Amino acid sequence: MTYKEPIFDVAQLSHVEIFSPRMDESLHFFKNLLGLSETERDGNSVYLRAYEDFYHHSLKLTYRETPGLGHVGWRSSSPQALERRVQSLEASGLGKGWIEGDRGYGKAYEFVTPDGHPQRILWDVEYYQAPEDQKTKLLSRPQRRPTRGVPVRRLDHVNLLASDVTKNKQFFIDHLGFNLREHIELDDGREGGAWLSVSPLVHEIAFLGDRTGKGNRLHHIAFWYGYPQHLADISDIFVEEGIRIEAGPGKHGVSQAMFLYVFEPGGNRVELFGDAGYLIFDPAWKPLKWTQDQIEEAIIWFGSPLPNEYFIYGTPHDTPPYQAGK
Ligand code: FE
Repeated sequence: MTYKEPIFDVAQLSHVEIFSPRMDESLHFFKNLLGLSETERDGNSVYLRAYEDFYHHSLKLTYRETPGLGHVGWRSSSPQALERRVQSLEASGLGKGWIEGDRGYGKAYEFVTPDGHPQRILWDVEYYQAPEDQKTKLLSRPQRRPTRGVPVRRLDHVNLLASDVTKNKQFFIDHLGFNLREHIELDDGREGGAWLSVSPLVHEIAFLGDRTGKGNRLHHIAFWYGYPQHLADISDIFVEEGIRIEAGPGKHGVSQAMFLYVFEPGGNRVELFGDAGYLIFDPAWKPLKWTQDQIEEAIIWFGSPLPNEYFIYGTPHDTPPYQAGK
């Protein structure tokens, strides 16, 4: 049996940019309810990070008339690893070229998924330096725990709607070295969803089949809390603030994470993780395949079923089924 040599060139999800048509309300959601801190502003963008994110930012929020994905940022495991991945991306035909970088990081290489979701890969990052009044005695985190809302700890993953899950999944495996951890096979043989990672986490990225057929859309971004109790606590605040909860708290079969889905006021779906789920250390991991008759357990291990909207709503959207926050 041949064994494919693993590629360890992508280290982590470093940041994500999303668009919001309602910047003030979105900023209130991320800063005052999820406890993100603002690092910097630049034109139509605000750079934010959770209190255990170590770099300049993990979320870039940019004003646009329509919500959706700006880009996903990946950090390579070394400058040499970056060059190797760029070679592979250029050969794929989906490379776009080098850019100067952005606030918080140096030169980056732009590319798109087969569906067209914009991506960047980079090495050179600026580490967050807490101002005097935010310095902490706990050296294992880069700043004090905020006292606003129920603060999330770090950016966890992105989930993208794809017109063809298999194509997008395979691109991440072949050109970026991701490992397939779990997937859903539909009765007609197509893949309904795929969860991939470069670390022991079950996923840093997932692709879900876009039932509208459109693809190239954002399904959700996710932040990690750590404790399931936080999901109940933040649910109280969301109800009081008029933030619509789509589903949860509940537990996924895939990844075993505790979850809560809400719509931030700009219209993008945000997932909150209440548990790390399980971790994968086996270098010869065999992807877990859920079949169509197991979808319910795959998506909701326990808790109420997901509304149909979960499978068709992504950003950008045609008709907003969400009720925007206050
Ligand atoms: Fe998720």
